[in-house]
Amino acid sequence: MSSVDRRAFLQSAIAGLGAATLWKLQPASAAPQSDAKNLKIATFKFDATPPIGHGCCGGWIKPIEVVDDPMEGLGFVLLGAGPPIVVCVVDWTGILNEAHVAWRKALAEAAGTTPDRVSVHCVHQHNAPMACIEAEKLVTKLGNLPHLLDLVFFEKCLAGACRAVAEAIQSPQPVTHIAHGEGKVEKVAGNRRIMGPDGKLIAMRGSASKDPQHHALPEGLIDPNLKTVAFYNGDRKLAACHYYACHPMSYYGDGRATADFCGLARRRRQVDEPGCLHLYFNGCGGNIAAGKYNDGSQEARLVLTQRIYDGIVLSEKNLAREAVTSLRWATQDVLPQTDPKYDVGRILAQIADKTQSVANRNRPAYTVSWIRRCEKKIPITLSALHINRTSLVHFPAESFIEYQLRAQQMAPDRFVACAAYGDGGPWYIPTAEAYPQGGYEVSVAWCGPGIDDVLTQGIRSVLVGPA
Ligand SMILES: [Zn+2]
Repeated sequence: MSSVDRRAFLQSAIAGLGAATLWKLQPASAAPQSDAKNLKIATFKFDATPPIGHGCCGGWIKPIEVVDDPMEGLGFVLLGAGPPIVVCVVDWTGILNEAHVAWRKALAEAAGTTPDRVSVHCVHQHNAPMACIEAEKLVTKLGNLPHLLDLVFFEKCLAGACRAVAEAIQSPQPVTHIAHGEGKVEKVAGNRRIMGPDGKLIAMRGSASKDPQHHALPEGLIDPNLKTVAFYNGDRKLAACHYYACHPMSYYGDGRATADFCGLARRRRQVDEPGCLHLYFNGCGGNIAAGKYNDGSQEARLVLTQRIYDGIVLSEKNLAREAVTSLRWATQDVLPQTDPKYDVGRILAQIADKTQSVANRNRPAYTVSWIRRCEKKIPITLSALHINRTSLVHFPAESFIEYQLRAQQMAPDRFVACAAYGDGGPWYIPTAEAYPQGGYEVSVAWCGPGIDDVLTQGIRSVLVGPA
């Protein structure tokens, strides 16, 4: 496809979104198990660094002024086991709603497959774009607000991703073996919701904190393990996917683009092994951050980078290869309901109110985008890739850690690795129990507590089969 054709395609992909007829809620689908004898992998990477001046994290922190290190997109295509499967991860804050659908459609087209066989995730760094086309159009229309997303950059980046996929699948490598491992990460993650004796939230321990009390309080509920799933041709490791649940920022809001400590650790591992693509996925880290162990200093970023790197190395020490005998891709479309407390008319009036702060105007643009997406009945596609007894499970948005732990409990006989920050539309996905506790995450969760059941059942469906 020429760049002109590609551009036309992307524009039509974006313009055509939301046609409800295209996006019927599909029933659970578990493609038949493949023997995977001819399985091949094609890895790809592309640049995702936003231009100077690009808005960060939805436009309420300082835009990009300097690039400390590049933001990247990385992924792999699996071929030879039914239509191709694409898994991609990008160093952005989020890709939401129709932007997420646009990514899946475009990557599917590039790989010669269908969008339901594409999963796209973000690592969730905050000095980075939070890409929502509808929200960008809304703030542009209402004027006097910083841009959330440079649509030209968005298209250019996605076109680069498609080119990378199209090139990669020209020379795939056979996959004969996979391996899984895990290792405990020391002193990074802590639960950021500090609860009082009455069961209400009393404090939030964010990504960085100088409060000694925040450092002294226990880690709380986390998943301390970093998990790895690696693909091999014989004894040659071709790709290694690492999974760990924690907000990935050591400090931010300073206008400096960086992949931050998780991305930096991954990149260090990449230097160790140039022949293997290392990918890092953020797990269900909606309520997890580094504030227990991070004072937000430059030194702390180095320390956290080292700890994630050590976790990756430890996890990889345990890798034991096994021949690939089966592969299955399962999906389930879900459309969780918007919390009825959100009223579009009132929110639009707030966005247009120039006496309000930028955050109070830009942020609700994402709420409206979610509501309108639901009206168009554009579902979230949950998916899982099952290879032998290993399952890679793909969650949306800022899912709480409980969902990841639940998934592992649902399939105790499988090795379950969880990637979240897929379709970011719903923003936070707390558990039902967390709603009455209150707190920041609940205040910016666009769905009501019913999402707990919808997501739990959906994940059960892709992981262990429909009920
Ligand atoms: Zn977050």
